[in-house]
Amino acid sequence: MPARRIDGKAAAAALRERVGHLASFFSASTGRPAGLATVLVGEDPASEVYIRSKRAATAEAGMESVHHALSADTSEAELLALVERLNADPAVDGILVQLPLPGHMDSARVIAAIDPDKDVDGFHVVNAGRLAVGDPAALVPCTPLGCLHLLKAELGDLSGRHAVVIGRSNIVGKPMAMLLLGESCTVTIAHSRTRDLPALCREADILVAAVGRPEMVRGEWVKPGATVIDVGINRVPGVEPGKSRLVGDVAFAEAEQVAGAITPVPGGVGPMTIAMLLRNTLVAAHRRAGLAAPEGL
Ligand code: NAD
Repeated sequence: MPARRIDGKAAAAALRERVGHLASFFSASTGRPAGLATVLVGEDPASEVYIRSKRAATAEAGMESVHHALSADTSEAELLALVERLNADPAVDGILVQLPLPGHMDSARVIAAIDPDKDVDGFHVVNAGRLAVGDPAALVPCTPLGCLHLLKAELGDLSGRHAVVIGRSNIVGKPMAMLLLGESCTVTIAHSRTRDLPALCREADILVAAVGRPEMVRGEWVKPGATVIDVGINRVPGVEPGKSRLVGDVAFAEAEQVAGAITPVPGGVGPMTIAMLLRNTLVAAHRRAGLAAPEGL
């Protein structure tokens, strides 16, 4: 029997609706909407698309979206000055500086300048540290947080399960591993130097692929009944000439014959990322206003 398809689109829509309700409570109780400031430097078309979707989702959830578009030749000092202004602005609860930044800027320095309590991407070292020590004040990167949400909805209690995370980036792999450890999984982090990756993957009750290599994980790498979360988004040539299509890091058609449940690409992890950005913004707003974190997010 083929695996259950984990519907990230539906899960994200439900979460966004919930955030919308809670955002209107927030506005009513504080007299102002929760606010997300986005910053884009330059005119990278993919980044422009991401920012547009993030802004539209923010507005749809009843939160304030304020955008700062800076030209590609903006100096790092000017960007840092803007970040400082946003840090000090009481109407701004979340700050998102879209990456990648132009080559003349040091992303680490820019991220380090963001107030950790407004760092809704969860990339600041303070938030990485909070996550590592299990501090609930952590703002956690949106994509792994979305994966965890899907896993808990699918499996309930995760404790004692063996999770293999393929990929060790600061944005996905490492925070994913920390989150799973926080849920008392036995966690293995695999990466480009891992030996005999297929055998390791076959031991996983939970397999998270965050690599960026189209369909690298084959069906025979999957333990029968495992839950597979495919973070990869890879554009490959389509069937018709000149057309392209998106595939994940997992060979879906093979893996769904073996897995117990699996996320498709598109429609799996992808939609959860923006939903979690809204969630993080609302959580940051509550904390900054001295309100208890909203339940059920
Ligand atoms: P990255 O390039 O920063 O990291 C990739 C990781 O994969 C590295 O840690 C590397 O060690 C590992 N790796 C590379 N080749 C490998 C191999 N042959 N075997 C085992 N491990 C290998 O990428 P990232 O930012 O973590 O993103 C990973 C994928 O997730 C990409 O496809 C990206 O597009 C996608 N992504 C999706 C979302 C989303 O919203 N769904 C968000 C972020 C990233």
